[in-house]
Amino acid sequence: MEYLNAHDPDPAVVEQRFHAQGPVALKLRQSTARDRIGKLRRLRTALLQRRPAFHRAFALDFRKPVAEIELTEFLPVIDEIRHAIQDLRKWMRPVRVSPTLTTLGTAARIVYQPRGRCLIISPWNYPVNTLIGPLISAIAAGNTAIIKPSELTPHVNEVIEDLIGDVFAPNEVALIQGGVKTAQALLGLPFDHIFFTGSPTVGKIVMAAAAQHLSSVTLELGGKSPVIVDETADVKRAAETTIWAKLVNAGQTCIAPDYLLVHRSVRDRFVEQCRKTIENRFGATDEQVAATPDLARIISTDHTERIAALVDDALATGAQLWSGGSYSSADRYVAPTLLGDVAPHARICEEEIFGPILPIVEFDTIDEAISHINARPKPLALYVWSRRSATIDRLLQQTSSGGACVNHCLQHYAHSRLPFGGVGQAGIGNAHGFFGFKAFSHERALLTGRRFLMARLFFPPYTQLKTRLVQRVVDILAKV
Ligand code: NAD
Repeated sequence: MEYLNAHDPDPAVVEQRFHAQGPVALKLRQSTARDRIGKLRRLRTALLQRRPAFHRAFALDFRKPVAEIELTEFLPVIDEIRHAIQDLRKWMRPVRVSPTLTTLGTAARIVYQPRGRCLIISPWNYPVNTLIGPLISAIAAGNTAIIKPSELTPHVNEVIEDLIGDVFAPNEVALIQGGVKTAQALLGLPFDHIFFTGSPTVGKIVMAAAAQHLSSVTLELGGKSPVIVDETADVKRAAETTIWAKLVNAGQTCIAPDYLLVHRSVRDRFVEQCRKTIENRFGATDEQVAATPDLARIISTDHTERIAALVDDALATGAQLWSGGSYSSADRYVAPTLLGDVAPHARICEEEIFGPILPIVEFDTIDEAISHINARPKPLALYVWSRRSATIDRLLQQTSSGGACVNHCLQHYAHSRLPFGGVGQAGIGNAHGFFGFKAFSHERALLTGRRFLMARLFFPPYTQLKTRLVQRVVDILAKV
């Protein structure tokens, strides 16, 4: 997809911004918890002051309902700030570790140092949450940051730019707007850490660029997150929650249920309950659903057509349309759509959907469901609905995913004391709370020698006694 942007600044300006942050990054190494908390408080105030401006901007960018702006943009970010303010002193404290047999006589600590100059690149789907969320962790950990939002949310970006300019000097936090060209100019610079949120395809480009400078990376990527509903599940609750998780932000959520694996014996009840839920929440007719103010629009006509093409391809390869199916490029609208009997080779089974379409696949045994998941790249999230603990345990043990919920969807994201991140193609590293603080910190090992140093026993010249002694130590260690 071509990203065109009027904002792309001259790469020399990008470089100048980066260099200007160098001396500040060094100074911030000495910043205290109090300094950092002060900044987080000012950031919070500036965010809340712009609430009406954000509401207007989101309406212009993709008609996101106000309740969803509050629930999925403000709530997580305000909670993240609150958590950091409460716990930062504890996070920053060096952690004492007891000596090992071979380091007897020393004192050891893990010290959290700011990484330095950080780069944060974010996607368009949650433009406040995915940009300001990591920025909170970067500030809590004592870094400078250059932040680049996606070019697809120009109105929201204007509000964020104004906010950042209000709270920070650009040599501490600078927002640079732009598209691919700007992202590439930034990725050419030797940042101390790069925190990227976006697609796996661009994640690989980011990692390759980071390798040129050996910059560390956190990659928060996407993928196809399954929901598994077995024959013992509370079908009504599973359907109601899955439909909510699928349709919030019109399905443009990294951890949205991408597809559903349902036990054959409860499939029809589940589909019926999904249909009813869509009808109750958004309207009984196509026209009512298309007119609801409670469903965000698709971010662009390109993405609308991409999603519609996935549905067309699924139908052309034998899928059944169980609900929805309509779309309008002009209105950037795609109806909530349920698809059944989808061919395994249909594109919708391979590509991240990132829209309000739910393909439904049946299984007869839980082993089939496990094999289906393990035959694909590890997902970012996995959701299990079951009342049988043996099934839940097997599914969790025999699959891998960034995070998982049992009898719930999405909510592991909302828990700021849990790490949030992917595994395999879904990403590297974690965000949120202490895990976000750690992503933006260098865990420095610090060892202090005391008067008695064990190592002195092994300084050259290597006498027979010393050689025997070290052999003895190795033998003792091998016994445990
Ligand atoms: P994207 O990867 O296309 O773009 C993300 C950012 O990368 C944007 O700022 C964009 O300007 C920049 N970019 C695009 N092409 C680039 C290139 N060739 N070189 C350098 N930079 C480039 O993603 P998107 O379409 O904005 O967002 C959707 C994706 O993000 C989905 O895959 C979704 O699952 C994922 N996502 C993940 C999370 C998470 O926390 N794991 C959260 C939100 C979205």
